[in-house]
Amino acid sequence: RSRDNDHVWHPFTPMSAYRDEGAPIIERGEGFHLIDVEGRRYLDGISSLWCNVHGHRVPEIDAAVRDQLDHVAHSTLLGLSSPPSIELAARLAAATPSGLNRVFYSDSGSTAVEAALKIVYQYHQQKRSNPQHRDLFATVGGAYHGDTIGSVSVGSIDLFHRTYGKLLFSTVSVPSPSALRVPKGHTPESFLQHCFDEVERVVAENHERLAAFVIEPLVQGASGILVHPPGYLKHVRDVTRRYDVPLIADEVAVGFSRTGTMFACEQEDVRPDLMCLAKGITGGYLPLAATLATDEIYDAFLADPAEGKTFYHGHTYTGNPLACAAALASLDLFEKNDVLSNVHRNEQILSECLAGLRNHPHVAEVRQKGIMIGIELVADRETLEPFPAERRTGHRVTLAARGRDTIVRPLGDVVVLMPAPAMPGELVEKLCATTCEAIDDAVR
Ligand code: PMP
Repeated sequence: RSRDNDHVWHPFTPMSAYRDEGAPIIERGEGFHLIDVEGRRYLDGISSLWCNVHGHRVPEIDAAVRDQLDHVAHSTLLGLSSPPSIELAARLAAATPSGLNRVFYSDSGSTAVEAALKIVYQYHQQKRSNPQHRDLFATVGGAYHGDTIGSVSVGSIDLFHRTYGKLLFSTVSVPSPSALRVPKGHTPESFLQHCFDEVERVVAENHERLAAFVIEPLVQGASGILVHPPGYLKHVRDVTRRYDVPLIADEVAVGFSRTGTMFACEQEDVRPDLMCLAKGITGGYLPLAATLATDEIYDAFLADPAEGKTFYHGHTYTGNPLACAAALASLDLFEKNDVLSNVHRNEQILSECLAGLRNHPHVAEVRQKGIMIGIELVADRETLEPFPAERRTGHRVTLAARGRDTIVRPLGDVVVLMPAPAMPGELVEKLCATTCEAIDDAVR
């Protein structure tokens, strides 16, 4: 532990946290549990930051990775190719909404978004029929799209914008249609209507400059599991199509069954122009991401071979064969184990087991879409007054849950539960019971 303190720079973690609280040092995974160096077993309630799908040390995925290791661990996609990267691209093109036929690999959710932004920016300049310069992106308020400069620019996390402001490019945004706190002068219904109208207004006013509209379909994850009203995604697609503005669907968090369908766009029959995938793509095994694009977008890059233009992006480990092999094994398991049916059962269990929290004096809202849960804690549920920030109520829930051998990771004072899609129902029940106890401890 002292070497962890001395040398490891943990992401998104207050520098003192590990010293003060002794975060578990995880040595092994077993099914849906993580085991630390002292032998303590924790239920993984956040599927290892929303990416684990079938559990840890899954024999079929382990075998696929080992088999690939027996062939080659890494070769480049720059000028070469590999069987698992070819096979996976074909499988992803077939599994995602129709039209997304081209797969560009990268290595994290942030880079999948970064690639989408750069692809679409360059696409407009290279369009054969009508080359244009479009340099503005439309976004949804409160969105999180990652932590690279481009993905921070299209996200609207205040703290990031205050910190890196001068490095970012500007965007236009529409209000998130899932605000718990409706602005003054609005009823919930009039606010929703306003949000729908704003999509139309912002796109209409800026369409000639808009390179794309970027959205997290159905649920804004990292801003606290904000669930969009039915029809909103479809509305965004209809408006962007009418004004000829490409739509980028960031399915990094919601993809691979978290909302109850393999991809969130399916629920509103939406076909985006670009789609970003990461997190669950390898079942939570290895870093891999994909940006899918239509042939129309891809073809613009073939426009004039004489010019030698290409897409100026591509990391060393892009399309790593081990990660692609894990992803293929994960897709097989989705089918073999009918993981989607398990997701539907767990969706019901979560809803029933957390129903009691809806009347809790310190719970403002229990938000749920599929197996994504956000429980917003407040000092006063009537006025929605938050707990003082320095109280770190959400963090206290983490510690109380950890004391009960369960890993959760709140976003501010929103307790997020993100059980793996294949988690058995009994463990989901246990996760809910522990979370309720941990909340009671933390607000006391
Ligand atoms: N987009 C969304 C919607 C996300 O939720 C996240 C991560 N929480 C990202 C992008 C960035 O993914 P990564 O952390 O793998 O870079």
